[in-house]
Formats: sequence, C-alpha cells, structure tokens
Amino acid sequence: MKLTIHRGTHEIGGSCVEVRSDDGDQRIVVDLGMPLVRPDRTPFDWRQYENLSPEELLEEGILPPVDGLYAHQEPDVQAVLISHAHQDHYGLLRFIHPEIPVYCSTGSRALIEVSNIFLNTAVNIRQLEPLTMWESVTVGGFTVTPYLMDHSAPDAVAFVVDIEGNRLFYSGDFRGHGRKRAVFERLLSHPVPDIDCLLLEGTMIGRSEGAYQSEEEVETAVREVIKSTNSYTFVFASSQNLDRLISVYRAALQTDALFVIDLYTAFVLDRLKVISPNIPQASWRNVRVLYSRYHANKLAEFDRSQLYRFRGSKIDMTELEAYTGRSVFFYRDNRIFRRMLRNLGSLTNSRAIYSMWPGYLEGGDLEAVLSSHGIEMTLIHTSGHAVESDLKRLVSSLDPGCVVPMHTFHPDHFANMFENVITLDDGEELQIPVNTSIPKE
Ligand SMILES: [Zn+2]
Repeated sequence: MKLTIHRGTHEIGGSCVEVRSDDGDQRIVVDLGMPLVRPDRTPFDWRQYENLSPEELLEEGILPPVDGLYAHQEPDVQAVLISHAHQDHYGLLRFIHPEIPVYCSTGSRALIEVSNIFLNTAVNIRQLEPLTMWESVTVGGFTVTPYLMDHSAPDAVAFVVDIEGNRLFYSGDFRGHGRKRAVFERLLSHPVPDIDCLLLEGTMIGRSEGAYQSEEEVETAVREVIKSTNSYTFVFASSQNLDRLISVYRAALQTDALFVIDLYTAFVLDRLKVISPNIPQASWRNVRVLYSRYHANKLAEFDRSQLYRFRGSKIDMTELEAYTGRSVFFYRDNRIFRRMLRNLGSLTNSRAIYSMWPGYLEGGDLEAVLSSHGIEMTLIHTSGHAVESDLKRLVSSLDPGCVVPMHTFHPDHFANMFENVITLDDGEELQIPVNTSIPKE
C-alpha cells in the first residue's frame, strides 16, 4: 500500500489523501476538502477562485493533483470516500468525474444535500453511495469499513482501508467528549487490530482546550444563561452541529423557553431523521420556526411543497414580541440575524452565547453590534475535536505500526506524544508497511 497526503500534513482544512496499491493500479481518494487557509496561513476565500476552470484550479494548487479524478480527465480513480459533511473535507467534490462513486454515511449524504440547496455547494447527489456503519464494502481492490465517530458533524466516520494485506486507519475528525462518546469508548475497548498506519487528526494540538470539557457542561452553562433572563437568549452555533443543537434545545426545555430556529435549521433536522428518530424536529415541544424570505425562496426553488412542512410550528415577529416568556434563538450571525435583531423591538435583558470556535469572531463586529443593543455575549463552547489525552488513548489502544500527523498546524508535536511518528510533507509518498528505525516495544 502507498499513500500520499495531498493536503493536510501541515494545516487544518482542505484534507485530501490518495491511497494506492503497490503497483499503482488501484487508487482511491479519502476526503476532498476546501482549504481553510492559504499557503501563507491567511484565511482562504473561495470567492477569489470560483470563476477559475478546473485546469486553472489544479495549476493554482487548489485542486489536489490526483490524475484521473476530475471531470475534464479520463476517470482513473476507483472511488472517493468522504469522512463527514464539513466543507474542509468535501468542499471540492463538485469537480470530480461524474463516473467516480463517492462513499459516505447516510447522515453525511443528507447534510451534503441540504448544503446544495442552501449553500450552492453543487455536489452531484446521485454520485453519493451511502455506507452502513461497520459494514465493509469492496471498492476495486480495496476493502473499506466505516467506523462511526463522535464529532461535531453528525454521522462522521473514520475509515479502515485494506489492500494487499496492509491496513490503514484514517481517523477523520473526531473527539471523545460529545454526545457520541460511547462509540469512541467502544473503539478503544474493541480496537481494530493489525493497523499498519494511522492517519491521525491533531486539530487541538497547540490550541487551548477551553473552559468546557464536554457537551453536558455546555448544556448546563447554556441553561444557566437562559435562566438568568426572562427575555431573549441568542445562541450562535452551526445548524449542522447536531450535538450542540441538542444541548441548547435541552437547555431550552429545562427553562421552559421557546426554541426558535430558522427554516434552514428546520430542514436540516428533517433530513437528519434518516439517522435517528430521536433527533429533535420542528414539530417537537417548544420548537418554533421563524421563516425568512431568503430561506423560503431557496427551499421553494428546490421543492415548493417542502415550504409547508413546518407550517404547524411557524412563528412570526409579532407573535414573538407578544410572547412574554423566554425565547432561545439558535442562529448563525448573518444578514438574516442582523435584520431580525433590528426588528425585534425591545432587547432589554437579552443575552447572547457564542457557541462556536472563538477564532471565527476575529475581525468581525458581532460583539460590537450586540453591545450597541446592550447585549452581553458569553463564550460557551467545547471543541468538535479530540483533546490530547483522547488522541493518546486512541493511539495506545490501536497500537498502529506508525502514526502520521494530519489536519494539524503542529505535526512536529506528535513525536513528543507518540512512538513511530512519520511526519510527511504534502505530496510526499509513503510506502506501507514502513521500516521504522525505532523498534516497537
Ligand atoms: Zn470536521
């Protein structure tokens, strides 16, 4: 087995790995993400590139150089595997050849479809082949097995990839402190045997772990903030972060607050029914859906009948203002939110909670805008990524032949944490199994 990390050896975002048989005849690609940073580490902005042709994108180094992967090439890749529905893992899928199958979980497929409708991500949904957790599929000469992981994207998976008697474990993004921590613990107690190489994410290496250690702690802290006001609480979080949505919804129920979501979030929850009947829905207790023209138009373009699905839970601004109890808004900071804030009338005693990675606040004016309305914002967040102690637990349980850092800005730290670390550069080929100079104990 041979592998090349085309992007991700020294950065977070834009993940792309190519795995080959020894003769190079069989090839698959694992993740095909949109970069988050440019080579100089400044933020990557897709709008600067969206008008380029695939050839130009390849030349610019935006599309990873995988021959036979893209629509303008002769197809020569057996499949693409997508670990989860975050843009930095699948955001370049729109460019692949339509004959190449894409394997992902049913939850990822649902979210990719929602993003197509609302965020113009342009993935060919017909290409997506849903995987069943822990069930192996044969892809050319490869056997691929998805492992459900705990992450801020629901239905995220790690992949075990076997070919020619060698075994790769691709961790994808994961953590051990979310609502799916039981699957992480199960992986630790029932480790996949005989792993020759572990591609391990390291997002949290070199980052602060923050004040909240788990989703439960987030839920408790959010509940206390909601309780402290009889008015509005604005919670900023991603609608596709299902764990967080459940934490905030539970906090709203415990404080008898209305849980106000937009049409986009209502549609996300509706589509995620495919993974579990226990996912909160617009029709559930205390949930209200606030329509905006922008989201209504997007949904109507896709399928007008979907617009009426959430009618029973609809609330409008007049009803919201007349409501005398507590209301919790689960929103993102965007034009729709800003307009709503201006139209809400009295914001006296309102509170705000930022429940995303605080790095996103840099350079923005959210805090200033809220403060001009007299609203104080509190940071209540726990990462979607594994803390160092959980990375160590995974490595010691899987006991792989080698550990290759990726999805990290600090690959150099891995050698202080693990044995048999091989640090690659983007585009460098690794032959597996590896003859490590340090013998394994
Ligand atoms: Zn992710």
